[in-house]
Amino acid sequence: MSYIQRMEEEQQLQQTKRNRDKRSSRRMKSMVIIALVLSSASLVMSAFAANNIWHGNSASHGSAVAVTPKFAGSAEPESLTEDKAPLTSTESAEAKDQPQVNANDADTTQSPPPANPKEGKEEKTGAKTEKKTAQKVIYLTFDDGPGKYTDQIVSILNKNGIHGTFFMIGNQVSGNEKAIKTAAENGNYIGLHSMTHDKKKLYRSSGSARFIKEFKQEQEIIQKITGTTPWLIRAPYGSKPEINNKFLNDIAAAKFKMWDWTVDSKDWNYPGKPERIIQEIKRQVHRDTEVILMHEKSQTVQALPGIIKYLKKKGYSFAVYKPDQHFPVNFAKDERL
Ligand SMILES: [Zn+2]
Repeated sequence: MSYIQRMEEEQQLQQTKRNRDKRSSRRMKSMVIIALVLSSASLVMSAFAANNIWHGNSASHGSAVAVTPKFAGSAEPESLTEDKAPLTSTESAEAKDQPQVNANDADTTQSPPPANPKEGKEEKTGAKTEKKTAQKVIYLTFDDGPGKYTDQIVSILNKNGIHGTFFMIGNQVSGNEKAIKTAAENGNYIGLHSMTHDKKKLYRSSGSARFIKEFKQEQEIIQKITGTTPWLIRAPYGSKPEINNKFLNDIAAAKFKMWDWTVDSKDWNYPGKPERIIQEIKRQVHRDTEVILMHEKSQTVQALPGIIKYLKKKGYSFAVYKPDQHFPVNFAKDERL
């Protein structure tokens, strides 16, 4: 249940796997020796006999090696809050005012709660054969829109029959109302990312007042466009290290929920290199539930189909944020948010 427990379990798992690998490599070695002995013996024998023995050996050899696979994605309960902390610092690296766009793949039909396997049923064919996969859920999040890429992201999500969670910047809404509306109507969640995305204004002024004010203002703007009132926010650059306990109290008192992420795609850092973004995601994704930070960027649009394809192959389904199925995903592990 706790993060520490989970880490311990994971370590145990790794240990078990290492042991198993060791064992199988030992087994392999002995197989090779046997094969060598047999093959040299067979050299002495007639040519046709040698052939038969050799084939027999390579077959069993192969199957011994093949025992290793699977298990890569443990069936542990998801913990979103867990390894956020280490990832936080990376986000702050994003410092230059980058609009971030979160895109979550959500099953078009619905958004499964993290531990809830119900969405598995709409998961394509894989659901039947691999039951575990039903528990593995990805939330694609797209920050820093709306903008010229919003429509493209929505279109890619639509093509894949999934939804995303967007955290949009209030000051960019004007002129992009249609894209926001379309995104919302297609089943995506429009969350809040402040009016200005300005670090100095949001965090360096007097306490949380400016921060809260910007989010309330944006909430009203989005409500007018989509007809629903969003309460989920994402703090620009993440909630760490700028947001302290007092600040968290104020956010909770204002009734906002706040999501950070569990996987930082670092997409803003890879213009023109969509394959690097995919790599980054492959490197980080391993929990049953992951919230992936992405931005509304050209390279992200290019990488998105590949990202979705990879995650589907890994047995994940996709969900979009649903207020009534809220669960905390913040670096401070604050259960109120
Ligand atoms: Zn941002």
